Amino acid sequence: SSFLAPRNPAHQASHVSPSFSLRYTQNPNPGLSRVAFVCNRPSDAARICFEASTSRPLQLERVRHELDGVLFLQGGATTQFSSAPLNLCNSNDSADYVVTGSWSDKAFKEGQKYCNAKVVWNGKAAKYTGLPSQGDLSLTPGAKFLHICANETIHGVEFKDYPTPQGETLLIADMSSNFCSKPVDVSKFSLIYAGAQKNIGPSGVTIVIVRKDLLGSAQPITPVMLDYKIHADNNSLFNTPPCFGIYICGLVFDDLLANGGLEAAEKRNIEKAKLLYDAIDGSNAFFKCPVDKAVRSLMNVPFTMATPELEAEFIKEAAGQGMVQLKGHRSVGGIRASIYNAMPKAGVEKLVALMKAFQARHT
Ligand code: PMP
Repeated sequence: SSFLAPRNPAHQASHVSPSFSLRYTQNPNPGLSRVAFVCNRPSDAARICFEASTSRPLQLERVRHELDGVLFLQGGATTQFSSAPLNLCNSNDSADYVVTGSWSDKAFKEGQKYCNAKVVWNGKAAKYTGLPSQGDLSLTPGAKFLHICANETIHGVEFKDYPTPQGETLLIADMSSNFCSKPVDVSKFSLIYAGAQKNIGPSGVTIVIVRKDLLGSAQPITPVMLDYKIHADNNSLFNTPPCFGIYICGLVFDDLLANGGLEAAEKRNIEKAKLLYDAIDGSNAFFKCPVDKAVRSLMNVPFTMATPELEAEFIKEAAGQGMVQLKGHRSVGGIRASIYNAMPKAGVEKLVALMKAFQARHT
């Protein structure tokens, strides 16, 4: 697939976006795979860099002060559902959760164990097909943080504008399923976490970007493996890191950079998603996408057909043509096309061609 393309030394250039980008720097040390991940904060021009390395991790020392807030961890995004409140809250602090689908609901349920977690908006009644605007949120004054899921993988809703927390409340986001799909203004967030397995690498690597001044206040019960400060102080090497997974992430970063960084990734993702949504919307309701147009995900495109039998037939035909994993999550049914960074435009075109042919045969 595209992210396993061979490295091209001609592309060891830098690419810097106004907000959140990746930059590759020529590796001065043979054997060290070095990738700098640069977050430009428009406010203070601060930058955070990290390097992914399998063989010479101690080389990271040089940029250590910049690395403190970017962690390569384990345990998946699910572990972060506990780590986030454990690191940022006391047990009696309030924390606000926007529940926009299955993943933010799971985050809230886990958060309840470690703080006074409240749901400030819940999309369940509308089957998680929309997102709140700022005015819809009943924010708790003094809440320690406001938690959102930037992209609900199962339901296909994606924040285009992020909510603004009030006062000292910190904004934190689960970006597991849209991490590195587009530029993000990291300065808006106090904590971003993402399982690597959608756009960046194999499952087993979890990336955390945390504001450095928030390190060191974890609840006393926090297991050592969940304490951000322990990992920051140890350069993400407190225990044996998932080396091979991190190495693969490095290859994927190389490939992203070689192909124009996050701005170019976003352009490709918009183009792919438009092809699919246009096909759905132009099908005279043969295919239907239940999600509000304004918040449709660029990564996960859910759609339905008139009957479950028709959907099953479509999924079977698609599999016959090598298009697999199109069945919607068991909790929602229907069809879901996940079109992450690695899905080429040709893959989406092939799906759209099948949709048109299938419709022609069934109407
Ligand atoms: N959050 C989101 C948005 C996800 O898509 C997923 C996994 N699909 C998770 C959390 C859980 O991630 P993990 O399996 O890495 O624990």
